[in-house]
Amino acid sequence: MEQKLVQHRRISINLHAKQLLEMIKRFFSTSAIRRAAVPPPESADVVVVGAGAIGCSIANFLLEMQPKLNVVVVEKDLNYKIASSVLSVGSIRQQFSEPVNIAISQFGVEFIRELAHDPETDVQFDEGGYLFLAQNKGKKQLEENVRLQQSLGSHVVHYGGHNGELSTKFPWLQTEDIEQSAFGLKDEGWFDPYTLTTALRRKAQDKGAIFMQGCVEEIGKKAEHVIISNTTNNNNNASIKIKCNNALVNAAGCWSSQLLSKMVGIDSDKANDLLPVHPRKRFVFVVHCPDKSLISPPVPLLVCPSGAYIRREGLPDRNLFLVGGMENAAGIDCNSNGTADELFVEHDHFENHLWPSIAYRIPAFENCKVKSSWCGYYDYNTVDQNGLLGKIFDDIPLYVATGFSGHGIQQSPAVGRGIAELILNNNQYQTLDLNDLNASRLQEGRYVIEKNIV
Ligand SMILES: Cc1cc2nc3c(=O)[nH]c(=O)nc-3n(C[C@H](O)[C@H](O)[C@H](O)COP(=O)(O)OP(=O)(O)OC[C@H]3O[C@@H](n4cnc5c(N)ncnc54)[C@H](O)[C@@H]3O)c2cc1C
Repeated sequence: MEQKLVQHRRISINLHAKQLLEMIKRFFSTSAIRRAAVPPPESADVVVVGAGAIGCSIANFLLEMQPKLNVVVVEKDLNYKIASSVLSVGSIRQQFSEPVNIAISQFGVEFIRELAHDPETDVQFDEGGYLFLAQNKGKKQLEENVRLQQSLGSHVVHYGGHNGELSTKFPWLQTEDIEQSAFGLKDEGWFDPYTLTTALRRKAQDKGAIFMQGCVEEIGKKAEHVIISNTTNNNNNASIKIKCNNALVNAAGCWSSQLLSKMVGIDSDKANDLLPVHPRKRFVFVVHCPDKSLISPPVPLLVCPSGAYIRREGLPDRNLFLVGGMENAAGIDCNSNGTADELFVEHDHFENHLWPSIAYRIPAFENCKVKSSWCGYYDYNTVDQNGLLGKIFDDIPLYVATGFSGHGIQQSPAVGRGIAELILNNNQYQTLDLNDLNASRLQEGRYVIEKNIV
């Protein structure tokens, strides 16, 4: 008995020591301490530029697949003041028209669900579903999309139009001009995009990735090095050079074309031909609508035929909603330089476009009040509005992952894993085949047109 007690005490002392070690490890891996403690590296196996959700996910999967790899992530602003990932609406759906986008979100939702079970990462996944509405004009396309989604295992169903069960399912909805609808019963909803981004960063850091703050100003002609300014990792403010031994990844979001133009021998026209990705401003309005009927059944992510979207924010009884969309219809969907100065909200957009559209579709919104608003940049692929992945030159180890045009945060898990596979497995995908999204498709005149863009 005594022997057993001693043994038990030993085990619990070991356990405490283990927990203490884990706490110390986590303490030293927090970004501020790591940044201060790590001097600038001279070289890395892989350098990733951009620590948004995409860059962090790539770093995480590289190290998951090859734990001894030396990975450095360079980020202009580790506080993410204007990064798209943290300004996103954080929604994930299965309702796409391209099989590759559906497969990407199927993995995405699995990954997010697993994070939601991690007690350290409250990603706040709300599986509220997407409801797409079509008038006569969009009916055929919606039905074609749903056939494809169902054939690929997505749980999307039709609720019909004005003659169907739509108004019974959602009594607060105006349905008289609606001919067809589609609702995701499962695997669709929204989550906290900041938490997802920082969770991916923490996972990468815990596995050994070095995150450094600095702006990449030059890329060598063969992607053999980067030159970084304004780095906090050295004390004398001088630029530093990091050699890229195996690969360089451009995960610079809406600034990825600007980053490519910093490669020796490439000007901005050439960069635009190769990577036509530009910042496009998107507004989000936080709206309070005190109508009790909206609590049950609660408002899912509703996409109106006008292009306006609305989803609830937080628990249904808070009566808070996020409203956005219609920049295209309003004629304000144009490229910008992607600076912080340009990120101001145009409030007329709500008054003139979003409110009339939403209040027509959900009459309770006649009585609503804008509480706050923000805007961020879509990393907009101006040619076919889909991700551009992989190498852009056959003989140079420069990889890109950008151009997601409004569906990038949900794609970050699958894209991170895919780019890591390309780098580590001789340019071949190992799990999900993402070849349809090869960045080289635009040069070959092959476009992937997603018909369900929000
Ligand atoms: C309002 C809004 C709503 C959205 N809603 C959704 C949604 O519901 N669902 C969805 O899936 N997607 C949504 N998106 C899109 C999604 O947010 C983006 O596609 C995604 O976050 C892109 O991630 P990223 O890591 O590529 O870009 P970012 O998060 O922008 O990260 C790129 C990083 O690169 C850094 N960088 C750039 N240049 C340099 C340089 N030269 N040196 C060093 N660092 C550099 C930047 O500082 C930045 O932090 C939304 C976007 C917006 C703006």
